[in-house]
Amino acid sequence: MAHIITLANQKGGVGKTTTSINLGAGLAQAGQRVLLVDIDPQGNATSGLGVDKSALHSSTYDVLLGKSEIQKSVVATDNFDLLPGTIELSEVEIQLVNVENREFRLKEALAKIDDQYDFILIDNPPSLGLLTVNSFTAANSVLIPVQTEFYALEGLGQLINTVELVRQQFNPELEIAGILLTMYDGRTNLAKQVSQEVRDYFGDRVYKTVVPRTVRLSEAPSYGQSIIDFDPRSIGSRVYEELAQEVLKQYGQ
Ligand code: ADP
Ligand code: MG
Repeated sequence: MAHIITLANQKGGVGKTTTSINLGAGLAQAGQRVLLVDIDPQGNATSGLGVDKSALHSSTYDVLLGKSEIQKSVVATDNFDLLPGTIELSEVEIQLVNVENREFRLKEALAKIDDQYDFILIDNPPSLGLLTVNSFTAANSVLIPVQTEFYALEGLGQLINTVELVRQQFNPELEIAGILLTMYDGRTNLAKQVSQEVRDYFGDRVYKTVVPRTVRLSEAPSYGQSIIDFDPRSIGSRVYEELAQEVLKQYGQ
């Protein structure tokens, strides 16, 4: 059975999508069978992996609504599988409003295919609504990317509360996989201060791997590639390989 990691932070622009794609690529390179689920209406992980959304016949939306079988909606990308996300996901909240067990739609779908993977990663929207709750209900653990900028810790309390609520109501096994420091700029004192603050607060739940700010990481998605395919010798590539090793050690397969 796959270990299911959901990448969440209700703040936008903290590195959820970048980490979903590149941790996925790092795990795949290490020989793991990986599925990435894009549950963000923005569908950035989907386009960042070079998948043409207009050519899809089904997506995470159809799976959540029960309009399509998950097996038929998964597509292959260069190194791992993807359940693609599209703008239609923004309608899920309203369409499922009166549906019983609406928090379990993703979990039920993933149960049909989770024996085919070692890791399933879920890329979330920047909110704590029904889509994120579905991912928390389906997951074993939550990986929280935190941008090493001012206000980094803001909102983290609310996120941890949501994890706690989901644990009480839907998924008692859910744990925090770890906090990942992203977009670290070692030249600034601010980055050092913020990462120290995060480490003081979360202790050894912070990953040793720190993702630096590097232009190559922001360029890769426009080529529809992970950093490991786009520029295998880059620092971003090395860092995400290192994170994959850290995650493998943690959930050792
Ligand atoms: P989220 O999914 O949390 O909204 P993204 O992963 O999309 O965040 O990152 C936000 C923006 O920052 C994107 O344009 C992305 O390419 C860029 N970015 C992410 N990580 C890095 C990094 N380590 N260095 C430089 N740019 C980055
Ligand atoms: Mg994103």
